[in-house]
Amino acid sequence: MKERFEIALNTPAGQITSAVDVPIGFVPVSAIVPLMRRLGEEAQALEVMRSLDSGRSTSCHKGCAACCRMLVPLSAPEALTLRDWVRSRPEAEQEDIARRFSESKTRLLEQGVWQQLVSLCDASLEPDEAVVETVNRNYYALRLPCPFLDAEMCTIYDERPAACRELLVTSPPEQCADLTKNPIDPIPVPIQVSTVLGLVWQDLTKDRTRLIPLPLALEWAERHEEQSRRTWKGGELFDQALDKTWRFLSQALGGNDKSPAR
Ligand code: SF4
Repeated sequence: MKERFEIALNTPAGQITSAVDVPIGFVPVSAIVPLMRRLGEEAQALEVMRSLDSGRSTSCHKGCAACCRMLVPLSAPEALTLRDWVRSRPEAEQEDIARRFSESKTRLLEQGVWQQLVSLCDASLEPDEAVVETVNRNYYALRLPCPFLDAEMCTIYDERPAACRELLVTSPPEQCADLTKNPIDPIPVPIQVSTVLGLVWQDLTKDRTRLIPLPLALEWAERHEEQSRRTWKGGELFDQALDKTWRFLSQALGGNDKSPAR
């Protein structure tokens, strides 16, 4: 059972108004992931239009996967959602995904980067930005394709994490060939959905997990099987996520925004 709400949120590029179907019973935290991704995409669509109005169009296109060699961070609810999706696939596909993740892990272990990712993921305190930056650089230096990348196409496009949806650029695509050397011009991200969901998870479970690197996501979700079975009232989950979203947007708007209309 779901209840429909009309949401109005002010963002730096304008207001989004959206009808959202919120589950009203007890649900796992993963139930709000699609809702939050949709709000994030609607807010970013306004930024894309604003950019277009100023003469800068998005240069990202099908078949360009330069950014799929960067480290993708997931929130805990997203990692659980991804694990559920993988489990829903035919057996042969699950085996293929497992093989790809295993190959990535082998390469990361060989290069000494796996342990750095584990340390980031398991950090009990918010990781220092300089540490995150170093791990990002070490990972990107390998140019390791995402396990879900095949022939330069995302094989989980509709299920891809929020961080993948949020990286859009207006700079020439060639600039993305080496992101350590070339400047890029990203479209602003008004709602960082993985950050919002990560904070919701922390409040609900008191688990400090903030950032799960994609190559670790399925293993992390398996280790947290028990927590993934916990349920909360759908309306309360969505309210929490909306409240955190509004706080971010309010900061971006200089603290002058009113709480979201619902
Ligand atoms: S999930 Fe898809 S979009 Fe994201 S990095 Fe992997 S292949 Fe690229």
